[in-house]
Amino acid sequence: MYIIGLTGGIGSGKSEAAKQFLRLGAPVVDLDIIAHSLTAAGEPMLNNIADIFGEDFLNAEGALNRAKLRTHIFNDSLERKKLEELLHPAIRARAISQLEDNQSRLNPDYQILVVPLLFESDSYQPVVNKTLVIDCDEETQIRRTISRSQLSEAEVKAIIGAQVSRATRRERADEIIENNGSIEELIENVNKIHKKFIKTCIVSK
Ligand code: ADP
Repeated sequence: MYIIGLTGGIGSGKSEAAKQFLRLGAPVVDLDIIAHSLTAAGEPMLNNIADIFGEDFLNAEGALNRAKLRTHIFNDSLERKKLEELLHPAIRARAISQLEDNQSRLNPDYQILVVPLLFESDSYQPVVNKTLVIDCDEETQIRRTISRSQLSEAEVKAIIGAQVSRATRRERADEIIENNGSIEELIENVNKIHKKFIKTCIVSK
């Protein structure tokens, strides 16, 4: 199994890049998608969340009130830790099982593992063979994030402030894709790096 850890700050273009890797035939496992699916309506994880944080974090239909939980943990590091301790092992187990399943079903040259906070902890660095950072300047990052989400500029800046700096990310990356231009340019850069990954993973296999 050859795994590329794809990371970058909020709104840097990770999902857009991942879509193109998928079109090129590289399976994509995305921790944000897993986290979301683990807390979807009807998932057993919601019972654990209600036990720890209270029933009022679920709405009348029994679905998670994501906005409420997000605000709650953003302002309280102990509560955030509680949620992380609950979710992280489950997310990791599902990610590993998806990677293994992709490998046995598709036998791909390499896979993409999207880890938004790859450099913020040591959890996934041992899992990946190489790291790829999608990067853009902060002004672009803020503009794109606001137009995609309901977040205010202050909220986006607070999230950026809680993540590792661009400088750290760039320093630790094996590869960087600059995403200040158009989507077409991003796609072209993903195509180029795909060819490079194919060569590298064949050599190291
Ligand atoms: P991330 O997954 O890193 O949070 P996304 O891939 O969702 O970021 O990108 C954030 C927003 O910016 C999305 O709406 C996406 O379509 C848009 N976007 C990403 N790259 C570009 C680009 N090069 N040009 C224009 N819009 C872009």
